[in-house]
Amino acid sequence: MIIKLKASASKEAIQQVIDFVRAHGLDVDASLGKEVTLVGVIGDTRQLPKQALEFLPAVEKLIPILKDYKLASREFHPENTVVKVNGLKIGGEQLVIMAGPCAIEGEEQLLEAAHAVKEAGAHVLRASAFKPRTSPYDFQGMGEEGLKLLRKAKQATGLVTETEVLDVRDVELVAKYVDILRVGARNMQNFDLLREVGKIDKPVILKNGISSTLKEFLLAAEYIMAEGNRNVILCSRGIRTFETLTRFTLDVNTIPLLHKESHLPVIVDPSHAAGIRELVQPMSRAAVAAGADGLLVEVHSHPEKALCDGKQALLPSDFRQLMSDLRKIAPIVGRTM
Ligand code: PEP
Ligand code: MN
Repeated sequence: MIIKLKASASKEAIQQVIDFVRAHGLDVDASLGKEVTLVGVIGDTRQLPKQALEFLPAVEKLIPILKDYKLASREFHPENTVVKVNGLKIGGEQLVIMAGPCAIEGEEQLLEAAHAVKEAGAHVLRASAFKPRTSPYDFQGMGEEGLKLLRKAKQATGLVTETEVLDVRDVELVAKYVDILRVGARNMQNFDLLREVGKIDKPVILKNGISSTLKEFLLAAEYIMAEGNRNVILCSRGIRTFETLTRFTLDVNTIPLLHKESHLPVIVDPSHAAGIRELVQPMSRAAVAAGADGLLVEVHSHPEKALCDGKQALLPSDFRQLMSDLRKIAPIVGRTM
């Protein structure tokens, strides 16, 4: 439920409304905008005496939220959410570029990629220590050893770090080493994992499932938010279609649609969507032109030797070219880099 306050409401009268809601065991998400003041009520509003609430001097009217995803909906929170991590703002004016290898394979490989993406202007180093592989015989990641290397790469470059958490049992461990946790496409509806990352105080990148609807995607975000973690970043990573020449298909529609439905930042992963190096740059440009708040791109200094996803990894030189192209597109869509 949203409480719409009168434009003339005083600070004290607004506080009275907030205190009233809290006194009934619920919390508020106050969005003190310029013209309208909306207060989102968090929790089961059935226990709230609506008549008494409507009677408070600051209250104009009570508006029920109709969407199933309440906390994630723009109805609940009209202004964009800006996720802040180590001084970096995700979902604000600045385009945020996350780049790095698919998997952490060793110190030299990770540091080489980390320095390359940093020099090209990336803000976040992506790299996975736990890999969700289709075959159990493929490289599964370096685990905690990999996380230690990621921490080392952060210290060496100053980049913010992000990595995938695959298992509920690893959430605490992963949160100890990195700045942003990622829930991958295969786990979008792993509800226990979603609840667990909802309890930590680090931002979470949530990827769409390959066959999920946007409603299911936003409800997955809702699982995280309902546990208290409001710093969710939606990542559009492509969907499964009948096309076989590409790995998946980037659904560019989702960028403006997610922005319309939700206040959460929306980033795009062109690498997994395309699965082919040559497509990653044009898909990245399209994503930024369509309003993405950032990108998650795979970069590897020696893709021919990569233990995972070498075919879709950009070379550092490709990545530098991409960054230079994005610097031209960004101002056209009102972004800085
Ligand atoms: C990844 O980004 O490393 C990854 C495995 O992607 P996805 O979960 O989108 O398949
Ligand atoms: Mn990958």
